[in-house]
Amino acid sequence: MTRPKGAAPKNTVPKNKVLSIVIGILCGLLLGGLWPEWGREVKFIGDLFLRALLMLVVPLVMASIVSGITSLGDIRKLGKIGYVTLGFYLVTTALAVVTGIVLVVFIKPGLHSEALAIGGAPSIPARKGIADMLREMVMGLVPDNIFRAMSEADVLPLIVFSIVFGVVLSTVGSKGKALREFFVGLDETIMGIVNLLMKVAPLGVGAIVAGKLGEAGGFSGFIPEVSRLGFYVATVLLGLLFHSVVSLPLILYLISGRNPLNYLYNMAEALLTAFSTASSSATLPVTMECAIEKNGVPEKISSFVFPLGATVNMDGTALYEAVAAVFIAQLYGVDLGIGELAIISITATLAAIGAAGIPEAGLVTMVLVLKAVNLPVEGIGAILIVDWFLDRCRTAVNVWGDGVGAAVVAECA
Ligand code: ASP
Repeated sequence: MTRPKGAAPKNTVPKNKVLSIVIGILCGLLLGGLWPEWGREVKFIGDLFLRALLMLVVPLVMASIVSGITSLGDIRKLGKIGYVTLGFYLVTTALAVVTGIVLVVFIKPGLHSEALAIGGAPSIPARKGIADMLREMVMGLVPDNIFRAMSEADVLPLIVFSIVFGVVLSTVGSKGKALREFFVGLDETIMGIVNLLMKVAPLGVGAIVAGKLGEAGGFSGFIPEVSRLGFYVATVLLGLLFHSVVSLPLILYLISGRNPLNYLYNMAEALLTAFSTASSSATLPVTMECAIEKNGVPEKISSFVFPLGATVNMDGTALYEAVAAVFIAQLYGVDLGIGELAIISITATLAAIGAAGIPEAGLVTMVLVLKAVNLPVEGIGAILIVDWFLDRCRTAVNVWGDGVGAAVVAECA
């Protein structure tokens, strides 16, 4: 499965594979939308697919990071890869947040949604400082029990452990040879399982979409909710669209010289899986397979950049958090000055970094953004109903951001 290092990317995906996933999603939309009870019936097939993807995440993260680091040759290269990766993540996340803020301030969706039932006067919760958020995040990096982190699929501490493990393993010489080979073999095997699993992806993603839409009451339950929050949904979607078709492709082209359309097409399976599962972590095995096998991103870069990106780099989530926070302020008639908008930008970036790559994680970490500018947390209730849909869209953008990041890091590091 692994191409020799330096070999040219294939740059082609069998057309019918992407097409069959698109058809799967369309069938799921029709089934769940028109016959919600049938959508709910087939949901278990989607759950099965999702479980199978999630089953691979923990061994994949550990094996790919350890084998990637030990294959670097010179461990000092890791430092450069690390700086470039984190730099890219910060810059693009900030760009996404600014895009969201500009759009929400300009469109003012909150002023067009006065019909929403958001309860009485806002209660002002205690301010949660950025320092508290940072402290929590740093604490969460170090696992007190690596097996608990594994069993709970707590990816960030696993990444930290795997990096330390990989770095030390590369320094122990011949005594670590068998262990190094073990991780390389494990990595190859897991990617082989991903390949197998993707053969049933059209069925799996279609069933997930049908199940979710069925639970939302089909088209007749879902469409009125979306139109009630039409301006808000449109603002988030517009921001996501701008970031994914203008900002990220421009960065990709300018830095790596790759053709963004080609690169996007080769990642289509991952993006469609992200849209269906609403989970960057569950999509991780597919993302890595697309990047390595189809876009020719070197494995030693992918193995480090993608596991980190799936948990830390969430452009779509950051953009959504910024838009949602300002939207809630507009709903409550709270005027936000430039200082508050700056705080929202910073906390939305941190909240996106802190969000796990699982469905609706962004909704939970948004509490931190709201608290930082003393906005009522119960405002979240107003956007809850459409979140499962926006979650899918922002997750696809998160994964696209990871993909672009890998190409940029491969070029610069
Ligand atoms: N579902 C998103 C992801 O996995 C996180 C979020 O925004 O809720 O990337």
